[in-house]
Amino acid sequence: MLYHSTNNPAHRVDLKEAILRSLPPDNGLYMPDTLPVLGPDFWAIWRELSFQEIGYAVAHAFFHEDVPAADLKSIVEGTLTFDAPLVTLAPGDHILELFHGPTLAFKDFGARFMARLMAWLTRGEDRELTVLVATSGDTGGAVASAFHRVPGTRVIILYPKGKVSGLQEKQLTTLGDNITALEIDGTFDDCQRLVKSAFLDRELSESLNLTSANSINLSRLVPQSFYYIHSARQLPAGVEPVFVIPSGNFGNLTAGLLAMQLGLPVKKFVAATNINDVVPAYLRSGDYQPRPSAATISNAMDVGAPSNFARMQALFGNSWESMKGKIEGMSFTDDQTRAAVREVKALLDYEIDPHGAVGWLAARKFRAANPGNATITLETAHPSKFLDVMEQEIGKDAVAIPDRLAVLAGREKVAVQLPADEAALREWLTK
Ligand SMILES: *Cc1c(COP(=O)(O)O)cnc(C)c1O
Repeated sequence: MLYHSTNNPAHRVDLKEAILRSLPPDNGLYMPDTLPVLGPDFWAIWRELSFQEIGYAVAHAFFHEDVPAADLKSIVEGTLTFDAPLVTLAPGDHILELFHGPTLAFKDFGARFMARLMAWLTRGEDRELTVLVATSGDTGGAVASAFHRVPGTRVIILYPKGKVSGLQEKQLTTLGDNITALEIDGTFDDCQRLVKSAFLDRELSESLNLTSANSINLSRLVPQSFYYIHSARQLPAGVEPVFVIPSGNFGNLTAGLLAMQLGLPVKKFVAATNINDVVPAYLRSGDYQPRPSAATISNAMDVGAPSNFARMQALFGNSWESMKGKIEGMSFTDDQTRAAVREVKALLDYEIDPHGAVGWLAARKFRAANPGNATITLETAHPSKFLDVMEQEIGKDAVAIPDRLAVLAGREKVAVQLPADEAALREWLTK
C-alpha cells in the first residue's frame, strides 16, 4: 500500500516512510491510497469475534501488503492487553470506557500499536531510533509507557514546566531506562516549536534518526478504529450506534470515520467539544476558522487548530454538505461540564471525567432531539487523572485512584531542565 499527502495526491510514499516520517514535507497528512473495506466474510461473523480478532482483521485490511500476518497478529495482541468495556448508564445511554490501559487514557491504544509497528519497521537496523514528542499531558505518558524498554529506541519527551498535573508529570519522569523527560521552561507551544525545529534541522534529524510520535501519525489512528467495531457489536443486532466523541485534535473521530469506511454501520457521529468549538462552528456555517485555544477543565481538548481536520475533509471528498450530513457538532462550557459531572454521579452513580462529561452532555442532547436512538459516548480518560475537578464536584475520595497511577506518587521525578530555546535543545541532543 502507498500513502499520499492530503495536499498532493502525487506525493506518494511507502508504509515505512509514512510512519517514520509522520508528516509529508508539504505539511499535509498521510492517507492510504485506497481506503480498505472489510468484506462480507467479516461482517457475517463480526459479532462473535473477540476484541483481538477484530483488531487483527482491521490491521490486516490496512497493512497486509506490508507486514506478514504472524507479525501483525503479535503487534495487535501486544497492543490489546486490556479491554474497552461498554457500560450502560440508562436505556440508550452507553459509555465506552477507553481508560483501562497502562496510562489510563485512550491514547494507550495508539501509542502501543505505533511502538510495536515502528519496532517492526526498523527491525534488524543497527541505528537507534530517537522518538521526539511534545506533550501537554496525556500523550507523553502514553508514548513513554509504550516505548519503555523497547530495544533500539530512545524516547525524548518535552513538557512545559509547571503546566502538567502532578500525576501526569510522574508518568513522564519516573520510568527511566530509554525514556528521558525534558522539562522546558516555557509553554506547550514552545515545546511543539522546539520539536519542529529539531525535525527541520536536516543534519540533526538524520544523525539522530529522529521520528515523531504525535497524534497525526497514521499508526496511532488505525488501532483507534478497533474499538468502534468492538463496541458496536455489543448493541442488539439491528441497532445502529450514534458515536459521541469528546474531541480536540479529532484523531479519535477520524478513527471512527475509518471504521465506517471499513463497513461499520454508523447512524451519526457527534463531535463534542468544550468552548474550543472550531469544528462544530464549521459544521454550522461551512466556514473553517482555526484560532488560538482557550484553557478549560477538559484540557486535553483545548485545541484551536485541530490537526486531523484535513483528513476528515478528505474522507468526505472535501464536501461540507456531506460532512454535516454525517457529523453533528455540539459544544459546552466548563459550568455545564461541571454540572454534568455532578449529575452523572447523583443520578446514575457513575464517575465521569470532564472530557467524558462533555460527551455525555452531547449524547443527552442528541437523544432528546432524536428519541429512540442509542448513543455510545467515548470516555477518553479515567476520572482520577483529573482529581482536582472531580473532588470539587463530587467530593474527596469519591474517585478511587487505580494502583498503577497511585504507585507513581512515591517515585522520584527525574527530568532535565532546559530553557525554551532551539540552540539549547540542539546542544543537549548532540552532546
Ligand atoms: C487526547 C484526548 C482527547 C482528544 O482526542 P483527539 O483525538 O485529539 O480529538 C480527549 N480526551 C482525553 C482525555 C484526551 O487525552
